[in-house]
Amino acid sequence: MAPSDPAGRRRLLLLAAAAAAPSGWPRWAGAQPRLGTQPFRLGVASGSPDHQSVVLWTRLQLEAADGPRVPVRWEVADDEGFRHIVQRGQAAALPDLGHAVHVEVAGLPPDRWYFYRFMAGDAVSPVGRTRTFPAPDAPAARLRLGHASCQRWEHGYFSAWRHLRAEHPDVVLFLGDYIYEYPTSLPAVRWPGGNWVTSLADYRERHALYKSDPDLQAMHAACPWLLTWDDHEVENNHAGLQEGTGGFGLVDFPARRAAAYQAYYENMPLRSSVFARPQPAGGALRLHAQVRFGRLADLLLLDTRQHRDPQACTRGGRTGASRFLPADCAEAGHPARSMLGHAQEAWLDHRLARPGAQWTILGQSTLFGRRLFRTPRGDELHNDNWDGYPSARARLTASLQRHAVANPVILGGDLHENWVGHVKSDYARPDSASIGVEFCGTSITSRPGLSARAVAAALAANPHYVLADARHRGYGLAEFTPAALTMSLRTVLDAEDRNSGVATLARFVVQAGRPALEAA
Ligand code: FE
Ligand code: CA
Repeated sequence: MAPSDPAGRRRLLLLAAAAAAPSGWPRWAGAQPRLGTQPFRLGVASGSPDHQSVVLWTRLQLEAADGPRVPVRWEVADDEGFRHIVQRGQAAALPDLGHAVHVEVAGLPPDRWYFYRFMAGDAVSPVGRTRTFPAPDAPAARLRLGHASCQRWEHGYFSAWRHLRAEHPDVVLFLGDYIYEYPTSLPAVRWPGGNWVTSLADYRERHALYKSDPDLQAMHAACPWLLTWDDHEVENNHAGLQEGTGGFGLVDFPARRAAAYQAYYENMPLRSSVFARPQPAGGALRLHAQVRFGRLADLLLLDTRQHRDPQACTRGGRTGASRFLPADCAEAGHPARSMLGHAQEAWLDHRLARPGAQWTILGQSTLFGRRLFRTPRGDELHNDNWDGYPSARARLTASLQRHAVANPVILGGDLHENWVGHVKSDYARPDSASIGVEFCGTSITSRPGLSARAVAAALAANPHYVLADARHRGYGLAEFTPAALTMSLRTVLDAEDRNSGVATLARFVVQAGRPALEAA
């Protein structure tokens, strides 16, 4: 298990900070441990880019999981042949961090692509490609951003990643459900399966299973990623430190969450500063962040899971999530309820108050706009997305209006369905102003919860949405220029086919200065 005592958690964040320094571990005692046939078989990744730095990641697979600390050399070059080295150094793969390596390379020239690789003993990693962003005050002509979520292993193959990679995005924005903590569900498209994931060893193994996929590895190696999580990185439908669905109260949830958070850090290209200080029970990772892509785009990455209040009025008085009748649930509308937690809300409002870039991109895990379901029992909402936190949603839309935020674009995931719509200043009034656009993306593989017919009925009941589709898996490719956003909803032909082709479900254009979706 992850350290559940305060001293253990404190040690963990100090180790993470020391290990991520570009030359934090100059000397080692002892000999090179046995590395096995290919210690780099989980691949390489990069992430959290800004205009002068980026995190390089790998995680060694050793013959013995509790093997000793391993020195790992790294190189960043201008060229794929590594003849023109830009920087090199040495890092540590520590058993306490699952033999993960996080190198925070800094001092790189802005707005450029680089190649990188790792070496341990005689082994050399695959070569990765990454980039720095343009400086915050520099012009930028174009940003190609892929966004995706929800990649349940046994529901299909990750062909979507292969097709996104072929489109050469500058960055991938991953919006949650990187792993699923479930036992293998049937029918399973692929094996090996697994059991419930609850301990640190379990979460490490599940991440290693997902990272063994060649298309996912290749996407990580192709460009930097920015990530946030949803629920399944820990447990279905959990809310902050409240257990969701499926834990059955059998496992100490704060200890389980701390284990899941540690494994998440170990397996993602994150900065060590995400380990919040102090580390409370249940762990804490500060995932919310702001990244600028020149004067073109302001990327605000939000965490909708760690700091939220529990879902209101879940059926049967249970924990977890369900639909609810707002007429019977005064709690949902309580003004104190928060989706982001009040500290993150204040942080976001402060960020939105400053002059931003041409486009303001909010990356978060779930559906933002109101989605009413007309049923014989009355109009229902779902309590796990922003419909369960309407006062928090109203505070965010008020903040966007108060600060006259330029061109807001809200990106989400979670539903395993594509939903495209206008962000409304007041969702209760269909004629209220549109203040931005929303693209809630489908899944990489995870199956949808709604039938095509139910989605069509919900679309008809919510006219601020212009497209809804549950039939397809895939990703979104957004191209931002100073003049316009062009969003392509790309869908794989068959997520159960390892060699699936790809198609375009729809394409939308949003002109800068005009929050309206135009079919393209
Ligand atoms: Fe999901
Ligand atoms: Ca989810």
